[in-house]
Order: sequence, then structure tokens, then C-alpha cells
Amino acid sequence: MDIDRALGRAWRDDAPWDLLTRLCELDDRLGGHPGEARAAELVGDALRDAGVRDVETHPFEMARWTRGRTALTVAVPDRDLEREFEAVALPYSPAGEVDAALVDVGHGTPEEIADADLRDRVALASTGTPVGADRRIHRMEKVGQAADAGAAAFIFANHAPGQLPPTGALRFGEAAAIPGVGVSAETGDWLREYADAGASVSLSVTADTERGTSRNVVGHLGPDTDDATLLVAHLDGHDVGEAALDNGCGVAVLLGALRILGHIESGLGTRVVVAAVGSEELGLLGSEALAADLDPDRLRAVVNCDGVGRFRRLRALTHTSDVLTDLATGVADDLNHPLEVSERPHPYSDHWPFLRRGVPAIQLHSERPDDEGHWERGWTHTRADTREKADVRTLREHAMVTALLIRRLASDGRAPPRVDPATVRERLVETGAKPGMVAAGIWPDEW
Ligand SMILES: [Zn+2]
Repeated sequence: MDIDRALGRAWRDDAPWDLLTRLCELDDRLGGHPGEARAAELVGDALRDAGVRDVETHPFEMARWTRGRTALTVAVPDRDLEREFEAVALPYSPAGEVDAALVDVGHGTPEEIADADLRDRVALASTGTPVGADRRIHRMEKVGQAADAGAAAFIFANHAPGQLPPTGALRFGEAAAIPGVGVSAETGDWLREYADAGASVSLSVTADTERGTSRNVVGHLGPDTDDATLLVAHLDGHDVGEAALDNGCGVAVLLGALRILGHIESGLGTRVVVAAVGSEELGLLGSEALAADLDPDRLRAVVNCDGVGRFRRLRALTHTSDVLTDLATGVADDLNHPLEVSERPHPYSDHWPFLRRGVPAIQLHSERPDDEGHWERGWTHTRADTREKADVRTLREHAMVTALLIRRLASDGRAPPRVDPATVRERLVETGAKPGMVAAGIWPDEW
């Protein structure tokens, strides 16, 4: 079949939406939990149905985290006030009971944390990044720096309204040093006022971190060449919602792209390795296991579907690779599909274990049209990450762009040049990302 017919068939293909639906119906896809295992089965079946061959499940050991109860009470002695608020423990929060003064550290920037006295106190910070800041400050950076400053616990207040406590791992793959919980923007507003009035909080978290098993689903498409392009999406998600946007949509886009590529398989010049990985949200555990299995020198590029397909505004993060920037722009221009490109590298998704070994990497992502680039997270990592926010047209169009990008990568005579890890390191230093990565415990010892 030629590519135009394959693209045409995508307009009538229900399979990506159906897979998104099935994933959202699972109870809890957090890494190592039964819902994640069931998601791997569903994705494996969908890949086989798309014509992907030798589909296998690769289990790996990891630290499984399971939430228990979380309780938060605030006392303001001067006002003779005591109030309970809803709070949600964050993955890898240790269990603990903390009674301590509450300190507002704004957005939790390095400067704000350095200026505060956090010793044996509870830090309160927004999940947002200050308007006008030149980079997004990751949650792990905030909590890592607060723990280094002696904080007893951390409270993240969602910056987006809607009574939605946010979640997100406190650490990559292991229990964090101090308990961390999320509260809604509305609760955060009260807590800031109470912190100014000398409040103390009583925080109780029960949770378990124990040995568990997560899994990757891996298969192959196209000719059996040594050289391959990796197409990856994480199938795990946070347990508080349906994980529809993060990353059910990414998995659906991956499937949609494969169902297009399946029709033009004989035209692919080199192999495509397809991987739906587990435990991304717990610290890229699945993609690290995958990177240990694959020879990075044989990978032409990695295309990471994390955040794609959820909203109309398509973005390509090309992680210092000019060639991938040109390629993605060329594909989008051919389709007359708007695309924003950023070359700035970041370590917080599944391309990272490959990028750091020199594999050119592109992450496909998307944002709401009205976000104006303020790193708006919106509903993801909250209980409002649910399926009705997805749109079948967006899934379809992003799958088309992804398929054409993979086709180019797999069929070009020459692979894109390797990325020099030293360049990535330099860019991370230049853009101010290094201190946060160090605080989060993810700055590599060797490059
Ligand atoms: Zn994600």
C-alpha cells in the first residue's frame, strides 16, 4: 500500500481510541501494580494486531510503592483554629508522622529555598514555575533541595485550580528522604495564609515501598536490519486518575502510528523497535531496563511519545539534534501541520537513558492552545486526568505525523549523527538544569 492510502485508512481506524478507552478503564496503572500488568497485556495484543512481530513482555525488578492513608491538619494557635485538608501522598513518599511549623517557599525555586529556614519544618511550594522563568523547575528538584536544607516534609500545592491535589514521584526509583504530599490550589491558598500566621501542620502518611515487578512490551516492525529506530511510549500512569493524558494518549498515538506503518512495512529501509515501557512515572525504570537490553550504537534515533496526542498544539523536543529538528519540521511542513520545536534537552522522560548514551532523541508532546507556554501542567498528575479530555482527531493527526517521522528516520540512507553527551551536559549546565538534577539524584556520575 502507498503512504497516502495508509494515511487515508487512519481516518477510519478506531483502534487507538479503543486502546485509550481500555487503558482508562483499568483501576491503577502505577508501576508494579496489577493495572500496569494488565495494561501491558492490552498493549501487547494491540501491537500484534497492528502487525508488530515478536512481541514480548520483559519483566524487570523495581521498587513498588503503594499508598495507604494520608491526613493533614493545620493549627493556627493565634487564631485558635484547627482545620483538616485533603492531601495525597506522592509516590516514594516514606511513611511518617510529622508535627512541625509550616514555611511558605513560593514556587520552591533554589533561591526561595536557600532564603528560607527549613530545618525541621514543613516546606510548602506551588507546583508551578514563576512567570518569566527560563526553565521549568521539576518537583524532584524542589523536594531534593528542601530535604538537603533539613525540611521534615514537603507539601506541593497545585498551581492550577479545581480542587485537584497533584501527584508525581518524589525520587527516581527509590524511597525519598522525607514525606511529600500534594494539596489543591485552593488548599494551598489557605495554607499560605496560615503559614504567614505562624501555623503548624500535623501530617500523617502511610505507604509501602517494597520489591516489585514492572514490565516492558517490546516488538519489531520492518526489515530485520541491525540498525533500528526506537519508538517508545510509557504505558504506566499515576493511580489518582485514569492517566488518560499522561500517557494513555501517547500509547494511543504510538499504536496509531504503527497501524499506518504496518501498511507500508515493505517500504521501510530499516527496522523499527517498538516499546511500551512501564514505571516511567517512578523514574524512567522501564526505559532504563530497555536501554540496558538494546545496543545504543545500533539505534538511529529514539522517538518518545510522552505527552503527544493529548492536546492540539503539537511540540517536538529535539534535545540538541539539528538534524532531528530539520526532519520533524520537514514532516510537519509536508503535512501543513503546525509544529513547535524546542532543542533544549531535559532528562524527565523515556528518551533520557538513550540520549545520555548518544542516541539522537525526539520527544513528541502537546499542549492546550491557550497555554501560552507557561509550562501549564493542567490536569495531568491529578484525578482529573480522564479520558473525556482526549479527542480522537488529535490522536489521529499526531499518529500521522509520528508515522511519517518514523518512516523518514527508518528510510533515510544515512542515520542522523550521534549526539555528543558532552554537548547535552553543557546545555543542561547552561540552561540551569544541573543543580536540580543533582538535588534530585539524577545527574550522571559519568558522561
Ligand atoms: Zn508521561
